[in-house]
Parts: sequence; C-alpha cells; structure tokens
Amino acid sequence: MHSIEIFSFCMKGVRLPQTESMKAFFCTLCALVLALFPACLPQRTCQAQEQKIVYLTFDDGPTDSTTPKILDILKENDVKATFFVIGRQIGTRKEILRRTIAEGHKVGVHSYSHEYASIYSSAKALLDDADKCRRAILDAAPSWSGNLYRFPGGESGLKQELSKAVRGAGYKVCGWNASVEDAVSPGADADKLFENALRTAGDKDTIILLLHDGVGYKETIRCLPRLIDYYKKEGFSFATL
Ligand SMILES: [Zn+2]
Repeated sequence: MHSIEIFSFCMKGVRLPQTESMKAFFCTLCALVLALFPACLPQRTCQAQEQKIVYLTFDDGPTDSTTPKILDILKENDVKATFFVIGRQIGTRKEILRRTIAEGHKVGVHSYSHEYASIYSSAKALLDDADKCRRAILDAAPSWSGNLYRFPGGESGLKQELSKAVRGAGYKVCGWNASVEDAVSPGADADKLFENALRTAGDKDTIILLLHDGVGYKETIRCLPRLIDYYKKEGFSFATL
C-alpha cells in the first residue's frame, strides 16, 4: 500500500488543516510510523490464509438406498461433494451416477470390485481394477473426465509399488484427514458420527472428511444435515477435490 493511501486510510474522519504542506507532513509521518510499526498496516492479505475449507467425500456408492438421499441433502443445502465410486455397482445405477455429475459433484475412482485380496495382489491387478472402474463410469457418463483415485481401505500400510503404480498411471490419489468413522463404528448413531467428525478434524482449517454412501448408512444420512450446518456456522466453505 502506498503511503498516500495509508495517509487517507488513517485520516478518515479526522479534520486537519487541508494545506498541501500539512498533507505532506502527515503523509511522511504515517509512512515513518508504519515503517517502524508494520503491525499497524491493515491486514487484508491474511484473509486468504484464514480461509477454512471442508471437502465432503463419500465412498462406496452408488447405491439405491443411500446415494439419492445424500444427493437430496447436498442439493437442499447447495453443497458440492466428491464421490469415490465402486465400478461394479454402477450397472443398474447409471442414472444415479449421471445425477451426481449433473448436480455438480466430482466423481472419482474407488476400484471396480473393492475386494482387497484381488486388487492388492499386484500393481497390474490394481491398475486393471482401477481402469475397469473408470470404464464403468464412462459407460454411464461418457462426458465424465477425472483422475481422482481413492484406495479402498486407505493407502497406509500398502506396498510402495502399489502407491507408485497408481500415481504413475496419472491418478491423483486422495486420502482423508478426518472421518465420521461410519464404516468402523457399527451401531454408532448420528450423534456419535457427528462427534467423530469433530474429534478427528481437531482444529484443522482444511478438512477432507470421509463418509460413506454404501448400503445401510442410515446414520450417515441423518448426520449429514447437522454436519453441514455446523461447518457453515463455523465459517467453512465447501469444495470438491
Ligand atoms: Zn471403500
């Protein structure tokens, strides 16, 4: 910011003799004070750093029982999310997948079979499975393009060659840094899932939250409106990966 601007900023509402020499004097004075005490500068540039973002991510769909309800809630709240889909489930649910994409959500690959023993048996098996999933998405939605990938069960603990192979094939691997823990907390109700989301996110400003839209995730559906309300009140914006 130029010292003239700073002078105008500081002098807002202050009545002073409006002679050129007085202006020059106060302008120089302001520049001097601000050079000595930079903390006095208006902190406009800090806003970007303070921005809080939450990425809602749903794994294991599409399903007839859960995905449409999740989409309804997201639509009502004007929130976009990212869906990591299982290829073999798309067959009879092409319309749900097309709706997901049409409503502005991102779709990524989460494997075709989701069977750990076979997909993690070799790099080739893993890539073949990912490609099969990609083709299933394209079969339902030919205009889809995307390179997001999420490892079934997560990436930690996997052999390095598997991680390398997926990245080498051009996928952008997406993990998560918080979770409602709906897949690992059988019987947990919506209140518990909400607590899990807050506990696992801690004080992070960028949250990638793991949820599931597979069969039987009724409590996730119940929890979602409350989560969205919470993040909105806390000043988070929603984004897709
Ligand atoms: Zn999964």
